[in-house]
Amino acid sequence: TYVITDACVDVNDRNCLTQCPVDCIYEGDRMLYIHPDECIDCGACEPLCPVNAIFYEDDLHGDGRAYLTVAAEFFAQT
Ligand code: SF4
Repeated sequence: TYVITDACVDVNDRNCLTQCPVDCIYEGDRMLYIHPDECIDCGACEPLCPVNAIFYEDDLHGDGRAYLTVAAEFFAQT
């Protein structure tokens, strides 16, 4: 899955959301989230992000890895 990280907070650009072919990007209060079970790993969203907040999960480093959990928790409560 692709993962949206902290750079998205309070940016909510939404360009990725409108371009995702399977509509698996959802809007929270302060950032957007990619549904890990719905993402087809197409990579289309990554270059669209103006703040480079989107990474493939294996490319996450340091604090970015926490956003795998952040997304899982977001979807667990929706
Ligand atoms: Fe959507 Fe593709 Fe981005 Fe996954 S990688 S969130 S399917 S645009």
